[in-house]
Amino acid sequence: MIETTKQEIERRFNEQQEYFRSGKTLGYQARKSLLKTLKAAIKKHESKLIEALNKDLGKSEFEAYSNEIGILYKEINHSLKHLRRSMRPRNITPDLHLLPGSARIQKEPYGVTLIIAPWNYPVQLQLSPLIGAFAAGNTAILKPSELSSATAQSLTDMVKDCFDPKALCVINGGIETTSSLLGLPVDYIFFTGSVPVGKIVMKAASKRLTPITLELGGKSPVFVTPSAKLDTAAKRIAWGKYNNTGQTCVAPDYALVHRSVYDEFVDKLKKTVALFYGTNPLQSPDYGRIINQRHFDRLAEMMTPELALFGGERDRESLFIAPTAYGPVDWSHPLMADEIFGPLLPILIYDDLDQAIKEVPNRPKPLALYVFSQDKQEIKKIDRSISFGGGGINCTVLHVASTKLPFGGVGSSGMGHYHGESSFQVFSHTKSMLKQPTLLDLGLAYPHKRISLKMVKRVLR
Ligand code: NAD
Repeated sequence: MIETTKQEIERRFNEQQEYFRSGKTLGYQARKSLLKTLKAAIKKHESKLIEALNKDLGKSEFEAYSNEIGILYKEINHSLKHLRRSMRPRNITPDLHLLPGSARIQKEPYGVTLIIAPWNYPVQLQLSPLIGAFAAGNTAILKPSELSSATAQSLTDMVKDCFDPKALCVINGGIETTSSLLGLPVDYIFFTGSVPVGKIVMKAASKRLTPITLELGGKSPVFVTPSAKLDTAAKRIAWGKYNNTGQTCVAPDYALVHRSVYDEFVDKLKKTVALFYGTNPLQSPDYGRIINQRHFDRLAEMMTPELALFGGERDRESLFIAPTAYGPVDWSHPLMADEIFGPLLPILIYDDLDQAIKEVPNRPKPLALYVFSQDKQEIKKIDRSISFGGGGINCTVLHVASTKLPFGGVGSSGMGHYHGESSFQVFSHTKSMLKQPTLLDLGLAYPHKRISLKMVKRVLR
């Protein structure tokens, strides 16, 4: 991977800063045009991007289109449809003590934004925040993951082909490059990636108090309660977990299954996996690969053959790890230490829901949480007792596919939200303006003619 030189990075940043300050990205037409160009660019380079996703992660065309490309078109359409309304300033009647006067809330772009992406959904997670950045009137520097190098190259080609680098450019490289980027006085940093690197980004941003969004990861549980429809639970959990070979930030990391349905659930999950990927998933065109040997080795270390319920086959050369489940696993097992981020599902048995619920907050706040249950009281109890980024009832992963649901983490799973209108909001500063008439100057707070404290206390109480 080529590391872009520091001089080149600075040159790119300076030209974007100058361009932004010229006001060329501010107007409605300019923003609309950038969004339309983005859609046209993705369309033009669609087959190359899909090819690259297959090369990097073994993604099938179906998976690449539905999880990465199609979702971007939907987001761009939504953004274009609501752009005028999102940009419109909101007139406000000021509080009584500030009358006579008028007030306005205006959304203002930050300026030059830096969007750092991970390798697991390298197209979607790079370009989805960009939609918000453009809609809000910013310029953007993209930093793809060096691990998904074919996709990084395709994105670079696409941007070079379709955009003026003053509005959008791609900087490629590894840690050194990202560190140089983080040293720039950019106006906003949008980072998607791991918790440890999120901390590095936050530390770097703190030097200039640069505002940031952190879209991180964590261990996301899925509850399967006695009232769950087990056929549906098995299918939806298998899909959420083994899609993209488990390398999904919102994949169910582990399952908490009530003892009374454990055997039946495991049996149905096993059958579902065979239905989805055949008895030899190595041959399945619908089953992907681990990103690289480092991550393969990390996962291989966690594999626990003595607890295998199914799966367990692996091949380092082809970066293949079969869809695998382990159980019953207990809370102290190494699989329960960190985010797994691979096709290994530990299944824990619980007897008492209250006890199971208590265990989750002993760990960092999850990015997602799912409940499979037909019992409203159980669902409510789980939802109210545990803090997590977002999630689903009787479904997995799908909440991220909505333009109407803000997506983001909480606590160590991240800060800030995007998707749909939230993408516009996250890349905009909220600027409040109060206008006072000049014909009349009551001066009620001026030292020489102010009103009595008694009067103030009557109004401000
Ligand atoms: P990562 O944190 O290793 O890398 C993300 C980006 O940071 C890459 O562009 C990489 O080049 C850069 N980077 C890596 N090390 C760096 C360092 N020391 N200094 C500066 N920059 C550095 O994450 P990843 O392995 O690419 O992705 C997997 C993680 O991302 C998982 O934890 C997953 O849960 C999380 N994730 C979160 C979301 C979300 O939307 N919340 C989405 C996808 C992935």
